[in-house]
Amino acid sequence: MNYYKNKVAWCPICSQGWVQIFKDKETNEFFVCCDECESRWEHPTEVKYTNKATTIFDTDIQIQDPTEDEIRVKGWERYIVEN
Ligand SMILES: [Zn+2]
Repeated sequence: MNYYKNKVAWCPICSQGWVQIFKDKETNEFFVCCDECESRWEHPTEVKYTNKATTIFDTDIQIQDPTEDEIRVKGWERYIVEN
């Protein structure tokens, strides 16, 4: 499994999960989100600012794993942390 393949940072909010790149299925917007606490940031470079975090907890957002191609087009592949 490459469940964590799109991780960009260790979560500074909960310190228990990886922040990964996801896509809003409805709007096709990209964002990053922690798989543990569901904190959300609009851009990978914002993850260090904990005051910029929102949460997807209790929202009805439908999230998708973006494909490698989509991430490359967006230019976010540079933020992905290597295993
Ligand atoms: Zn977290």
